[in-house]
Amino acid sequence: MPLELKATINLPKTAFPMKANLPQNEPKTLARWEEMRIYERIREVRKASPAYILHDGPPYTSGPIHMGTALNKCLKDFIVKSKTMAGFDAPYIPGWDCHGLPIEIKVDKELGGRKLQMRPLDVRAECRKYAQRFLDLQRQQFKRVGVFGRFDRPYATMNPQYESVVLSTFFSFYENGFVYKGLRAVYWCMHDETALAEAEVEYENHSSPTVYVKYRLLDDPAQIDPALAGKKVSTIIWTTTPWTLPASMAVALHPDEEYVGLESDGEVYIVAAKLAKEVAEKCNLSGARELAHFPGRKMERLNFQHPFLDRKILGVLANYVTMDTGTGVVHTAPAHGAEDFATGMKYGLDATSNVDEKGILRNGLPEYDGKRVFEANQPIIDLLRRRGALLHTERTEHSYPHCWRCHNPVIFRATEQWFIAMEAPMPGGRSKPGESKAGEAKNDTLRARTLEAIKGVKWDPAWGEGRLSNMIATRPDWCISRQRVWGVPIAVFLCESCGKPLNDPSVNRKVVELFARSGADAWFTDEPNAILSSSSDCPHCGGHTFEKETDIFDVWLESGASYLALVADEPNYPWPSDLYLEGGDQYRGWFQSSLLCAMGTHGTPPYKGVVTPGWTLDEKGQAMSKSRGNDVDPVDISDRLGAEVVRLWVASVDFREDVVGSEQLMLRIADNYRKIRNTFRYILGNLGDFDPQADAVRFEDMEALDGYMLRQTLDFAGDVRGAYDDFAFHKIYHRLNHFCIVDLSAFYFDVLKDRLYISAPQSRARRSAQTAIWRIGEALVRLLAPIMSFTAEEVWDYLPKVANRKESVHLELFPSPVEILGNATDATEAGETEANSDWITLRAVRDEVLKALEEARNSKLIGTGLEARVTVSASDPVYSTLSRHAEQLRYLFIVSAVSLTQTSGNGTTGLHVEVKKADGLKCERCWNYSTRVGEDKHYPTVCERCSAVLEELGA
Ligand SMILES: [Zn+2]
Ligand SMILES: [Zn+2]
Ligand SMILES: [Zn+2]
Repeated sequence: MPLELKATINLPKTAFPMKANLPQNEPKTLARWEEMRIYERIREVRKASPAYILHDGPPYTSGPIHMGTALNKCLKDFIVKSKTMAGFDAPYIPGWDCHGLPIEIKVDKELGGRKLQMRPLDVRAECRKYAQRFLDLQRQQFKRVGVFGRFDRPYATMNPQYESVVLSTFFSFYENGFVYKGLRAVYWCMHDETALAEAEVEYENHSSPTVYVKYRLLDDPAQIDPALAGKKVSTIIWTTTPWTLPASMAVALHPDEEYVGLESDGEVYIVAAKLAKEVAEKCNLSGARELAHFPGRKMERLNFQHPFLDRKILGVLANYVTMDTGTGVVHTAPAHGAEDFATGMKYGLDATSNVDEKGILRNGLPEYDGKRVFEANQPIIDLLRRRGALLHTERTEHSYPHCWRCHNPVIFRATEQWFIAMEAPMPGGRSKPGESKAGEAKNDTLRARTLEAIKGVKWDPAWGEGRLSNMIATRPDWCISRQRVWGVPIAVFLCESCGKPLNDPSVNRKVVELFARSGADAWFTDEPNAILSSSSDCPHCGGHTFEKETDIFDVWLESGASYLALVADEPNYPWPSDLYLEGGDQYRGWFQSSLLCAMGTHGTPPYKGVVTPGWTLDEKGQAMSKSRGNDVDPVDISDRLGAEVVRLWVASVDFREDVVGSEQLMLRIADNYRKIRNTFRYILGNLGDFDPQADAVRFEDMEALDGYMLRQTLDFAGDVRGAYDDFAFHKIYHRLNHFCIVDLSAFYFDVLKDRLYISAPQSRARRSAQTAIWRIGEALVRLLAPIMSFTAEEVWDYLPKVANRKESVHLELFPSPVEILGNATDATEAGETEANSDWITLRAVRDEVLKALEEARNSKLIGTGLEARVTVSASDPVYSTLSRHAEQLRYLFIVSAVSLTQTSGNGTTGLHVEVKKADGLKCERCWNYSTRVGEDKHYPTVCERCSAVLEELGA
């Protein structure tokens, strides 16, 4: 009884769906991972392996994730998973930054007037709820895009253990002599009523009134120059902040620049020579005549009269006085400028701020007292005019510091703040505290040691080193105090009599323990008072009573202590970590504060390497933002196209540059995803009847083409592994696309169809092909698992089961060369080069044949390639290569017959392809043409090859 011919063809069969349905299926995979506790299982199988620690930078808990955070987390996930599959124990502890002003401001708004009646503890409880809400949301969103990590026990800056480490980090700075509390002019936001760090200030345009003001000289002008003897002499200052004039204590001049005395209408005005002409015009000094010129230092310590207060103003010298704008004479208010403050210290000037935390002027004249700083400008200008001191006024647009949170202009304000001194000597090492006499070990400071340490870190991209070095070299002392509620309190006791802090290590330890036990909230209860024993006396004045400091820490000190908090919790983690990966804004933020915290406590950096991705932009190169409406929401893409598409997009971009995301790009990525998925589907479809244990063919017994493709896979694996090591995920993405589309789909899989479908199922030729595609599938799925985590897991389930195979692909290692080639590593050596060069020739000739077939199809000579008979004419060495593989050529070209002709000459130039209609009849089973169709008595419609197969099948 003849078989139904169609039933004898091995058509692909698999339950692996063509359509991925990622949005529906990914959540099921996530649930499965959750159920099998995949993260813990990975820890278990890697626990004896060398550690690799990528330490997570904590995102802020005040909103949902966006494309930038998704990029950040996916990159980290690629690194952690690829290190894991490369054989490392690479735990990933996600973290969150929970304290700080943005949350407190939002909670303030929600609470409204109620806040005034609330205790700090209750406000903190509201802030905690707010932070926890977004921690939970972001956690769920990061998991949704397939990130693996210790999500059920993350680190959070508001956890008691974490808070205690922040405090102990501060105490180690403090006890080692880095910390001081002092009056300093710091950036101050009047709106948020707090000091701001340099990193929290942004420059924006601002319109200010500028004034030219006369300061009369009180001393004998002949001291400056004999030519000025007996004259009525003044100097002219220029400022864009008239509200600072009540705090004016000095006029600063450059010691070496030249100044002139200009006589006009019977008075003499001293201004810088380089600016004299411009000042004379602005101030309308008619007929100004130069009486004398002299260096600025001549005016040091001379006395001038304040324009409206009963105050002597001192002439001082400063090298920062420039000759580009103004008058070259700088009004100096130590309470309201960083440089002014430093000059004030040098000359012993009063730096008391009469501007309160809300920015209101206090203790002044009725004209401006009680007004906010910018509202005081006009009354002060009017006052100057009435006193005859105003020479000119106009408005200027200039770049002015603004608060990065509320975008209001900020001021400088001298307040008592806590600082970490950049020039404090390092404890231990080259100099010990107390031993560092002036001049000795002068360079062994926190700043110098940090600058040195930066050189030992691997910065990627390399410009990171210069950027951070410049910042560290020029940064002022670190102001670590803030006057807010939502943070870790600076838990220090202050003497009620003299106000000085008690820095007693045993008291400090007890407060740290209290924080570890009850969290930082405990500082706001009565508990800390119990820590002070009766023996605690003020070392400065002998006082017995103390009050609690109410300031909190700068959040950068908090997040900067994150790796310290992690190693305190996990003592087995190595110091330092291997890698930090965050955006470029973290050079002024987390990279810097983490480095300083580590230098101050360990004396070494917390990281061996730092990687920085670029910004996420839209197709026009603009920053993505919800308000602009140009943002691509990773959660929305996951819900519509799949998280795998988000992950593949992340892999597709060169993240070290600014990266572009858009709906269009996501659709294109989804299209590529389908091609990769189809590669897997082909593999799975042809392995339905393949049992590797029973059916696998040894490498040395394989068909030449199959061996060649396994060697290609080995190359592919090498390239991918190398790219993972370099974090060059975009190279993996492009290599993968090329391998799947060009090498597999368009070439190997196309050629293989005939052998897989037509051969007898058990034949060696078919088993050879199946062995090859099985090994390719096994290699691909593992190589891609770090990036295509969902699809790799799905494919893993469909691949043939073999002994010792793990439940999840994520528990496996990257494929070794032996696993890719099978049992024959030797075969890679012997004859590999020759075999590969043969295949380069064969594939080049194949491309030529396909072109010729295409032309023949266009001219209607043939329909499909199988209707063709091809003659290839070639000279050596191409001819001899083709002859070596003569039997395989018709399958390689997918035609019914190939004949070869040798031509004279050398090289490939002599290659010629001729296409004719194939002889014979079309075989009903394999569709090849043959002159021998009809010879089989039982199956008169099949060719001699199919006839043999049918006989083998027992038909
Ligand atoms: Zn502000
Ligand atoms: Zn005291
Ligand atoms: Zn046939």
